[in-house]
Amino acid sequence: GFVAPFLLIGKGVLQEICLHGTGWDDPLTNELRPRWERWKKDLTNLEKINIPRSYAPTGFGKVTKRELHHFSDASTTGYGQCSYLRLRNEKGDIHCALIMAKSRVAPTKVTTIPRLELTAAVISVKTSNVLKEELGCADIEEYFWTDSKVILGYINNEARRFHTFVANRIQKIHLNTTQGQWRYVPTNQNPADHASRGLFINELITSNWFTGPTFLWEGEIGFSEEVISDLPVGDPEVKEARTLITETREQDSLTNRLSRFSSWNRAVRAVARILRRINKDKSNGLSTVKEREDAECFIIKDLQRQTYSEELTLLKKDCQLPPHNKLHRLNAFLDNDGLIKVGGRLCESNLPHAVKHPMIIPKEHHITKMIIAHCHERAKHQGKGMTINVIRTKGYWIPGIGRAVASHLRQCVICRKFRRHTEEQKMADLPPERVNPSPPFTYCGMDCFGPFYSKQGRSVRKRYGLLFTCFSSRAIHIEMLEDLSTDSLIIGLRCFIAIRGTVRQIKSDQGSNFLGAKNELKEALKEVDGDKLANFLSDNQCDFILNAPSSSHVGGVWERQIRTVRSVLNSTLSLSPRSLSDASLRAFFYEAMMIVNGRPLTVDNLNDPNSLEPLTPNHLLTLKTTIALPPPGKFVREDMYAKRRWRHIQYLVEQFWSRWRKEYLSNIALRQRWHTPKRNLQLGDIVMMKDEGLPRNEWRLARVVQATKNRDGLVRRVKICLGDNKLGKNGERLTKQSVLERPVQKLVLLLHGD
Ligand SMILES: [Zn+2]
Repeated sequence: GFVAPFLLIGKGVLQEICLHGTGWDDPLTNELRPRWERWKKDLTNLEKINIPRSYAPTGFGKVTKRELHHFSDASTTGYGQCSYLRLRNEKGDIHCALIMAKSRVAPTKVTTIPRLELTAAVISVKTSNVLKEELGCADIEEYFWTDSKVILGYINNEARRFHTFVANRIQKIHLNTTQGQWRYVPTNQNPADHASRGLFINELITSNWFTGPTFLWEGEIGFSEEVISDLPVGDPEVKEARTLITETREQDSLTNRLSRFSSWNRAVRAVARILRRINKDKSNGLSTVKEREDAECFIIKDLQRQTYSEELTLLKKDCQLPPHNKLHRLNAFLDNDGLIKVGGRLCESNLPHAVKHPMIIPKEHHITKMIIAHCHERAKHQGKGMTINVIRTKGYWIPGIGRAVASHLRQCVICRKFRRHTEEQKMADLPPERVNPSPPFTYCGMDCFGPFYSKQGRSVRKRYGLLFTCFSSRAIHIEMLEDLSTDSLIIGLRCFIAIRGTVRQIKSDQGSNFLGAKNELKEALKEVDGDKLANFLSDNQCDFILNAPSSSHVGGVWERQIRTVRSVLNSTLSLSPRSLSDASLRAFFYEAMMIVNGRPLTVDNLNDPNSLEPLTPNHLLTLKTTIALPPPGKFVREDMYAKRRWRHIQYLVEQFWSRWRKEYLSNIALRQRWHTPKRNLQLGDIVMMKDEGLPRNEWRLARVVQATKNRDGLVRRVKICLGDNKLGKNGERLTKQSVLERPVQKLVLLLHGD
């Protein structure tokens, strides 16, 4: 290896020839030929090199200290190392001699300089082993020099892990050397630099190749005390550290694991399968009924262990549960399987054991909810009672079962489809005619009812009632009509205006109010000439709005009021087997009117003994405070047949009074339904559109696509996009989707959008 740098040049040429794939007998390419020729010519210069046989010069005297210094280096073209023997004699003179060197061309596979440097360092280590053996001195002092701080960093590192290539070589170095033997040498003083780059003979003779670097010749070797910096972050050879933290949490109970199930059947089947495996049964068939029963029992036992641990320990000791315990009243006991069951008093009955002594399960648990859902489905989505019945026959006892089931039923989409009421929302602000103070009967609604039969001598005639409702004072006025001709309607109106003063506006909502009335009335009213009526009224400075748009609840109060009064009058008069005369009928109407107008406008203070006398429409109409008392005396059913007609009327009036009061009060309760704001319909809610003309199961599904809030932040109308029941093969719509606007009162909410 004495001429290793020179050989490297030759090796380089050879490598290149091989790289080009030149055959062994092909001539050299023009490119390589000059390099080769120069190297070949330089070969003759080799004879200039003189190497003394002895490492120590003649007359050096006795050697007191021997040291081996190994230098390694790498470049893009090659890598190499050289080893020197440093001798010191008694006088302290130093002599250095090259004893071995190696050079290699860099591998054709592209690799990094640090990797080559490391390979060179490893060769140094190998050479050191060879030299120690050949020189016969195993304990000679050795130093390894490199000009690569990266390598020194690798060697000094003990914490990090490297990729396999580096790790293997570092391991070799660590096996044979210690960290303290590794030193840094600047590149310009490193003789191994020649071995990695190559030199021609003349350059080789003048270089420090044979003698070693100058600092080796000094008495004390000045170690550069350069601190080898730690490995830079992101060194490509350092393995990225990946930390994986695995947390094991023990699921303490089976019941918690079952919270991932949504179907009781599946949960039971899964547990049955696990139990089968526990019993070392490896079959895969469907679980048997027995297995499922065992699994159910197992789940319930675990559930009870979790929720009724206190009771379990007491019952296991054969103690009675204390009176304050939830399960005390149930006379709970522990059966042979270790389940808490209801004692009850049915021990002697012939009922199946499961029904006699149902298992107790807590109301709020997920498993209970699954059981309720399961039983509710078994009951084919019938009501609460049926569902509870199925749960009981299945042998479960849930404290507070009623509410638990009701809450499940409220959530059940299918039940919503069958039974849920349409949406409602707090009533909107009242229309101006109902809130602005105005004299009674300035704005009113009008409606007809009847017919009633009146005796005229020997003939019986049909008579009708004409009912007016004031929007602001809620007073009513009833007129009797002789028939339903336009003329008699006008007469009725004239009477009304004559008694109650001018009217600004009359609304008549035939569309809805006459719907339930007798067909006869409806037919008769068709004959009425609306234009003529309107003309008459406009002469009297009154707007007549016939067939006001059916905006359902907007005019709801007076509509309902008319309906109640009408139906009570109808039924009260039908009591009378004998027909009244016209005058009696009119008197009865007036008295009924007085009764209705004598009702309190609010019911808030009725139960408060300190409050003032409740305000009634009569106060506004008559400006008198006396309440119209029922007439004196006791009127009984027999009065119907009495000769004195007034007693007859009084009896009817009394009947009207009691009936009307009942209806009226329920009416008020009805109205309070819409007093609290409800959840607004929201974008994406799935609803069913109510359609009076269709059976409920044919109401169409729709999704809310726009929900506009009113000024008070409540949604009363929404735009919905109708679902399609005829879809294409790939589920695409075949028809254009229709978007409708509907009041929320026409919709049934099935699923919350969120
Ligand atoms: Zn249901």
